[in-house]
Amino acid sequence: MANIAFIGLGNMGGPMAANLVKAGHKVIAFDLVEASKNQARTDGATIADSAAAAVKGADTVITMLPAGKHVVSVWTDVVPAMAKGALIIDCSTIDVESAKQAHALAAKHGMASVDAPVSGGTGGAKGATLTFMCGGEEKAFGAAKPVLENMGKKIVHCGGAGAGQAAKICNNMILGISMIAVGEAFALAEKLGLSHQALFDVASTSSGQCWSLTTYCPVPGPVPTSPANNGYKPGFASNLMVKDLTLAQDAANAAGAATPLGKHAQEIYKAFDAAGHGGVDFSGIIQHVRSLAGK
Ligand code: NAD
Repeated sequence: MANIAFIGLGNMGGPMAANLVKAGHKVIAFDLVEASKNQARTDGATIADSAAAAVKGADTVITMLPAGKHVVSVWTDVVPAMAKGALIIDCSTIDVESAKQAHALAAKHGMASVDAPVSGGTGGAKGATLTFMCGGEEKAFGAAKPVLENMGKKIVHCGGAGAGQAAKICNNMILGISMIAVGEAFALAEKLGLSHQALFDVASTSSGQCWSLTTYCPVPGPVPTSPANNGYKPGFASNLMVKDLTLAQDAANAAGAATPLGKHAQEIYKAFDAAGHGGVDFSGIIQHVRSLAGK
């Protein structure tokens, strides 16, 4: 049993903290929102008065926050208050530069640190089936792995500081682009009089096969569990896809990489978001693609 401080109890952090309690750990939690704190209390965590109070005496500190500025701000606050030799893990999806800044803060105070963004969404957070993409030194990763195993099923060490965030944004750039490609193919098939099922049966067993088609099919019918069968309720909301594609563009610009389709995908999701569909599952982008016909 470990003493774990958990900061950021939102849609992802709340159920992740609950899984640590279920695994038998002592969890001291903090969030700014009263309702999230109450839920964590019901789930068996102890609630601290502040983030800095939560980390006192913890062997491991976990943050699950909206963006880089929140992570740097919370780490600046909590790292000096942590016990000597403790480990700090950030599971948020943030920009690579902020992740490196957070690692540097931890190193300055002698703490081991890991960036460990996740994929698997709220379902994975609840079911403890998340994938963690980790960046940091081998020793820090070795210490983080058994803790993360309580919340996920696949824990990958991607490299040094920031490598987890790099892997996450590269993966999600593939996802954002491939979902538009699959949506475009269905929209074209509709115009050509080809049924959704016929395109699915061919492409899912041909070279067009991909996760966006076979697991998350953007039209209702072929994959009954995909959000298209549920009014495009997220799942993974389009505004979060905008966030991840923007992180990818920022990283590409900073690193001097050419990502023309990633840039275009960002613009397409931004337009969908600006039209008031930010809360729609990202596979709903097919509706936006259809709306462009004849324009
Ligand atoms: P969320 O907005 O539901 O939760 C974030 C929580 O952080 C909120 O409860 C907020 O009150 C808290 N918070 C903000 N500033 C704080 C501070 N200074 N101190 C303490 N608490 C603070 O977001 P989420 O959906 O849980 O996502 C968290 C992270 O995980 C994001 O970086 C997101 O991109 C990433 N992510 C989300 C999903 C998803 O499907 N929701 C999937 C993968 C990754």
